[in-house]
Amino acid sequence: MIETRRPAFLDGKPKQLLIDGRHVDALSGRRFESFSPSTGELVAELALADAEDVDRAVKAARAAFEGPWSRFKPADRQAVLLKLADLVDAEFDDLALLDSIEMGRPITAARGLRGMLQRSLRHFAGAATAIHGQTLSNSFPVDLMSFTLREPVGVVGAIIPWNGPLFSAAWKVGPVLATGCTVVLKPAEDASLSPLRFAELCLEAGVPPGVVNVVTGAGAVGAALSTHPDVDKVAFTGSCETGQRIIAASAGTVKRVTMELGGKSPNIIFADADLDLATPAAAMGVFNNSGQVCAAGTRLFVQRPVYEEMVERVAAFGAALKIGPSLDPDTQIGPLVSARQFARVSSYLDLGPQEGARLVTGGQRVTGGDLDKGHYVAPTVFADVKDDMRIAREEIFGPVSCILPFDDFDEVVARANATRFGLAGGVWTKDIGKAMEAVQRIRAGSVWVNHYFAMDPSVPFGGYKMSGFGREGGSEHIEAYLQTKGVWIRT
Ligand code: NAD
Repeated sequence: MIETRRPAFLDGKPKQLLIDGRHVDALSGRRFESFSPSTGELVAELALADAEDVDRAVKAARAAFEGPWSRFKPADRQAVLLKLADLVDAEFDDLALLDSIEMGRPITAARGLRGMLQRSLRHFAGAATAIHGQTLSNSFPVDLMSFTLREPVGVVGAIIPWNGPLFSAAWKVGPVLATGCTVVLKPAEDASLSPLRFAELCLEAGVPPGVVNVVTGAGAVGAALSTHPDVDKVAFTGSCETGQRIIAASAGTVKRVTMELGGKSPNIIFADADLDLATPAAAMGVFNNSGQVCAAGTRLFVQRPVYEEMVERVAAFGAALKIGPSLDPDTQIGPLVSARQFARVSSYLDLGPQEGARLVTGGQRVTGGDLDKGHYVAPTVFADVKDDMRIAREEIFGPVSCILPFDDFDEVVARANATRFGLAGGVWTKDIGKAMEAVQRIRAGSVWVNHYFAMDPSVPFGGYKMSGFGREGGSEHIEAYLQTKGVWIRT
């Protein structure tokens, strides 16, 4: 039965910016609207920030960084994070509903992120008390002791995409709180609600006003953050093109930047793989969240002896998935996030056959009844895809699997690496030697063997090549919010 409950946060009132612990309108008084991709209905009106609002938020973040927040000990920050984890857990169903309503993630899948979110916030809490410098020997001719201090980088501008809003907000704000930084968070215009509510929960958890600020609006808000002289670091997740703009914009003030960008990840199935295990992972590796996943295994390389069988298996798996509105608990494939994203994906559905790919299943909009109101695309499989086709080279960000046959190991590794991206990759084989060689030769930030999509806050995730730099997850995630001071003391 379709979920009819609405989160308390959706009270019909316009959503304001969160600056210095207060809800405020944009100085211009302007607003924008957010619509449900499932039904086309208005979900909320939100404040449309501009550069002046960004400036207010950065000032609040700076004041909090130098003021009350700087007096929080590591154990105090840990306590705040643990309290936040409790509050998020208590309200998790509402937060999952917000994402499902606003960006179309199927509600059952949205609810499935509960454990990961809890592990993440508790992981960041643990990190707060584990930050340490080093005592270093030196050979300076005068007797001096030397050691390092690890200090927070300062005010962070965090810019996130719409495809996993709550999770992205938590993975940006978590390390901020663990390290003693402050943040101005800029959610994507298509999915700002759960980040806004998450920031309110930070306040309820005892985070002082000004530590976590949220400015909503379009790309111009992110651009204002990237050039603001008092922002020390930009932590960005989004498309490669926007990442390039942010890197260029941040150069003027030499900001630290971390970039979690897009991908066109290879998922390689050798003929000796367990195909029963590989089939659902190969299919959901790209159909999950309607393909709106940065690490999606969109180039499915299958070794020739099992090629036709895997084409049929993945197509059958995709065709059997239940497409529907995001609030139906039975829905496995929800709508694409917006009309813009729908137009983008549709253009690739048209392009595939024009480029000579064989359409095996899907390839069209799904309509009928209530589905006419949303942006639904059927899970699509293109077979006989060639490396030089645009559908094989460009990030589609929709439920589109491109299947490519291959003959031998060296060939597939070379073809898997022949992309400007390097976010992730999958390898399916029962031969551990072959798996290990592939792991070492695939140029990507994450490689899964006989699995696809495992993620954990303890394990680094991020890009090689144009998929970005810096890592989220693992110790590097925390490191990216710290800077190091060398200290010398005459003994
Ligand atoms: P996007 O680049 O269009 O937007 C991301 C964010 O940047 C949004 O908040 C947007 O408003 C903002 N923005 C837009 N223009 C800007 C500018 N000039 N300066 C500063 N900020 C600006 O990406 P999207 O469409 O929201 O998200 C999809 C993309 O994100 C895909 O490419 C996907 O692969 C990538 N992504 C990567 C990861 C990862 O961890 N590597 C995770 C999720 C999504």
